[in-house]
Amino acid sequence: MRHRIAVIGGGPAGLTFARVLHRHDHPVTVLEGDPAPDARPPGGTLDLHERMGQLALDRAGLLAEFQALSRPEGQAMRILDADGTVLRDWQPRPGDLANPEIDRGQLRDLLLGPLDVRWGRGVTEVVPGTRDGVLVRFADGRQETFDLVVGADGAWSRVRPALSSATPHYTGITMVETSLDDVDTRHPDLARLIGDGSMAVYGVNRNLVAQRNSGGHVKVYAQFRAPLDWHTNLDRRAGLDLDDAEAVRSSLLALFDGWAAPVLDLLRHGTAFVHRPLYVLPVPHTWTHVPGVTLLGDAAHLMPPLGVGANLAMLEGAELAESVAAAPGPADLDEAVRAFEEQMCARAGRWAKITTAGLERLVSPDPTQALALFDEVQPS
Ligand SMILES: Cc1cc2nc3c(=O)[nH]c(=O)nc-3n(C[C@H](O)[C@H](O)[C@H](O)COP(=O)(O)OP(=O)(O)OC[C@H]3O[C@@H](n4cnc5c(N)ncnc54)[C@H](O)[C@@H]3O)c2cc1C
Repeated sequence: MRHRIAVIGGGPAGLTFARVLHRHDHPVTVLEGDPAPDARPPGGTLDLHERMGQLALDRAGLLAEFQALSRPEGQAMRILDADGTVLRDWQPRPGDLANPEIDRGQLRDLLLGPLDVRWGRGVTEVVPGTRDGVLVRFADGRQETFDLVVGADGAWSRVRPALSSATPHYTGITMVETSLDDVDTRHPDLARLIGDGSMAVYGVNRNLVAQRNSGGHVKVYAQFRAPLDWHTNLDRRAGLDLDDAEAVRSSLLALFDGWAAPVLDLLRHGTAFVHRPLYVLPVPHTWTHVPGVTLLGDAAHLMPPLGVGANLAMLEGAELAESVAAAPGPADLDEAVRAFEEQMCARAGRWAKITTAGLERLVSPDPTQALALFDEVQPS
């Protein structure tokens, strides 16, 4: 039986779900709010783990294409102290494919492949239990019904309220992102400092991380503990204008004052600055099953960005798609979704605890905590 299935959101969760269903010849409607794939910058690089993101790509029949695109050398990780002394310098072993990196834009295009995504279809509300199924309302006033609506619409999900009253809360930690282009030719000293993968410096309640993407592009993340309105409380008459790149740059340089000059060059040469306060959902996040609606990825379990969110999102997308494709009738479909939710919420709850504790150590009053965390997880 062909169920009428819609997935809301064309991020890693939604596209993996749709692509695996497509592989099983099951139709699926992908509804994405962005007007086009390249409407926004796609964001930084992702490391896809062998048993999570890569497993999901395997289920979609895309593992070989991923391996051709991904950067195993991006697994390199270097940690410096605030004086610029190299404390750790991990290099992947030859043939190590445990966590290769891929640009988000490349991953999106890989997953998109033959999928027929309906762009510019922002969803405002999902209403389960109508006579004809689950009703989806769109920002343009249109509406449509489906047998199953999968909310893969990220942190600020519009599907989530159909299942749960939980909303994301601020962690007390803010990230400001900037980037450098053509680093090998324009900033060769920084290119050497960063190496082939990531470089991080951990200080008291703050850190700076630089990650190499493909094509000489580098993303730099400054993380620090601060109230949500930190930018309005600065010693300036009108507070800090977050759209004023030079003002944000000088605030960050003041925040990291005293750190080694080459490390601060990452901020001095950054182009635009994007403000990203870190929000999370309560842990565990569960809900009473509602027939016809479910969640995947950040919509279900927004957690700190410690290299797991996209991996879980993709694995869940693949798992749900396989269960749904194998469900012959409406009752089987509902049972498949219920079983999936039970497993997903339990596993995501475990990861949310791990990443929450990890974030506390990476942005800690005691910077040795960050180093100790890496020593625990990096292969020796
Ligand atoms: C700085 C940073 C670095 C990270 N690094 C990593 C990493 O290295 N590894 C890792 O595993 N994870 C990482 N993460 C986490 C990862 O980005 C997320 O967990 C992942 O993107 C979740 O995927 P998703 O598909 O659930 O949601 P999203 O990626 O948020 O996708 C949601 C999609 O839904 C669309 N949408 C939203 N609302 C609507 C609506 N109302 N109607 C229709 N469409 C809608 C959006 O436009 C978007 O396309 C990082 C996060 C951050 C912030």
